[in-house]
Amino acid sequence: MSTTLSPAPKSANEVDVKHTECFIDGKWVPAVSGKTFATLNPATEQEIAQIAEGDAADVDAAAKAARRAFDSGAWPKMDARDRGRLLYQLADRMEQEIHALAALETLDNGKPLNDSLTADLPLAIDAIRYYAGYADKLHGSTIPIRGNYLCYTRREPIGVAGQIIPWNFPLLMLAWKWGPALAAGCTVVMKPAEQTPLTCLRMAQLAKEVGFPDGVINIVPGFGPTAGAACVKHPLIDKIAFTGEHRTAQIITRDSAETLKRLTFELGGKSPNVVFADADMDAAVEGAYIGLFLNQGQCCCAGSRVFVEKSCHDEFVEKLTALTMKRKVGDPFAEDTQQGPQVDKAQFDKIMSYIDKGKNEGAECVAGGDRVGDTGYFIAPTIFDNVQDDMSIATDEIFGPVMSVLTFDDKDDMIRRANNTFYGLAAAVWTRDISNAHDFAARVRAGTIWVNCYDVFDAAAPFGGFKMSGYGRELGEEGLKPYTESKTVTVKL
Ligand code: NAD
Repeated sequence: MSTTLSPAPKSANEVDVKHTECFIDGKWVPAVSGKTFATLNPATEQEIAQIAEGDAADVDAAAKAARRAFDSGAWPKMDARDRGRLLYQLADRMEQEIHALAALETLDNGKPLNDSLTADLPLAIDAIRYYAGYADKLHGSTIPIRGNYLCYTRREPIGVAGQIIPWNFPLLMLAWKWGPALAAGCTVVMKPAEQTPLTCLRMAQLAKEVGFPDGVINIVPGFGPTAGAACVKHPLIDKIAFTGEHRTAQIITRDSAETLKRLTFELGGKSPNVVFADADMDAAVEGAYIGLFLNQGQCCCAGSRVFVEKSCHDEFVEKLTALTMKRKVGDPFAEDTQQGPQVDKAQFDKIMSYIDKGKNEGAECVAGGDRVGDTGYFIAPTIFDNVQDDMSIATDEIFGPVMSVLTFDDKDDMIRRANNTFYGLAAAVWTRDISNAHDFAARVRAGTIWVNCYDVFDAAAPFGGFKMSGYGRELGEEGLKPYTESKTVTVKL
C-alpha cells in the first residue's frame, strides 16, 4: 500500500465535497425526480452542498442493480478470497484518505476533527479489515443424522441488504454494515441519514476506485419516509439492517411485513452507569464524563443515568462537575475542541426542551444548562444532580450532552432501578470488588456490560440490545449471521 496520505484540512473551507449524487450500478446519477436537498454545517448553520434527493424511483433502480449483481453471481460467487481482498483494499484506501474522510465527517456532522481522526476513522477501518478476513471463513457444518445420509449445511449470503443508517457515526455505521454484508457475499442498497450523507457518498467512490463490481454497492441519499421506506418495502431487497430510533424500527417492522424481510435493529438506550463507593473515584469520574459527553452525547449507548452510591456522592459530583466545566466547546476544526455542535436544529431543540424539563421537574442543574453562543447548535455539557427515577430526563433518551445523576444505597434496589427501562443496550459498573462486578454483569439486562471502563468498542466484540434497544448483533462473528441463510443439504448414500 502507498503511504501517501490525503492532505489534512484545517478548516471547513478546505474540505473538498466531491460527491452529491446517487450512486447506482457503479455510476453517479441525479435523482429521477431531479430534486435535491441541502446538507448543513451544524457549526455555522450554513449550507454545505445540495444532495440528490432519492425516493422510490431511485431505490427501485438501486435495488434492481444490487439484485443483478447478486443474481449474476458477480459478487456472491466471486472467489471468497478476492472478495476479502477488495475489502482489505477498501480499508487501505480509507487509510490513505483518512484526513479527507475525517474532515468531511466533521464538516457534515459537527464532531471534533480530533475525534473523527482518532476514533471514528480507525474504528471504521478496523471493522472493514476485520470482516475482510471473514470472507473466506464462512462455512457450514456436517451433521450426523439418523440413517445412511450425508447431511451438511451451507452458509449462503441472504441476497440484497437494505441498510439504513443514522447521523451520529455516519462512517462507522457504514463500516459496521458494509463489512459483514460484503464479506458474506450480499450486495447493498444504503440510505444514509439526511443530515450526514457526505462520507457515505465518498466511500462509494473509494469502493469504485478499488474495483468493487458495478451494482455491489448502491447509495440512495434522501429522507426516511420516502427513500428509507422504499427500501423497506422493495420486493427485491431481502433484509433491512437499521440503526436509529425505536419508533422508526416499529414503522419498519410494519412496513416490511408484506415482504417478510429479515430485520436487524440497533436502537436507542438509557444506559445505567453505576459507581460504587469502593471504585477508583478518579477513573469513575472520567468514565462517567466520557460515557455521556463523547460525541456531543449523541451515542446510543451513552451512560445517561449515572447511579452513585450515597456515601461517595458528594466527592463524585464535585469532581465530575469540575471536569465538565473545563470541557472546551466550539469550532470542531480547532485542535483543542472537545465538543462540537449537535447535528441539527431538531436535535438542538429537543435537547434544550429536556434541559427545561429537568429544571422544571426539580432536578438540580450543577453544570451547563444553556446553549453556547448564538450561531451553530452548541450546547454546554450539562449535569443534573438529585434526579428522581420518574423524571423525564431519567426515562427518555435525550441524545445530547445531558447527564442525570441518581443516588442509591441498596444494591438490589439499584439493580431493579437500572433494569426499570424498556431499553437494554449497555451498562457499566465501577467497583474494586470483582464479585460485585460479575454479579452486576449477570443481573443487568443489557447487550453490553463494561466493568471499570466505558465505550470500549472492538470490531471483534458483538454489540446490540436487549428489549427495545434492538434485535440481532453487529460486529464480531455474530454480526455476520444476519447476512446469511443456512441451507441444509441431505444426500442419500
Ligand atoms: P431516525 O430513526 O428517524 O433516523 C435514522 C435513519 O432512519 C435515517 O437514515 C432516517 O432517514 C431513516 N428513517 C426515518 N424514518 C424512516 C422510515 N419511516 N423508514 C425507513 N427509514 C427511515 O432517527 P433520527 O431522526 O435521526 O433521530 C431521532 C432519535 O433517534 C434521536 O434523538 C435518538 O434518540 C435516536 N437515534 C439513535 C441512534 C442510535 O444509534 N441508536 C442514532 C441516531 C438517532
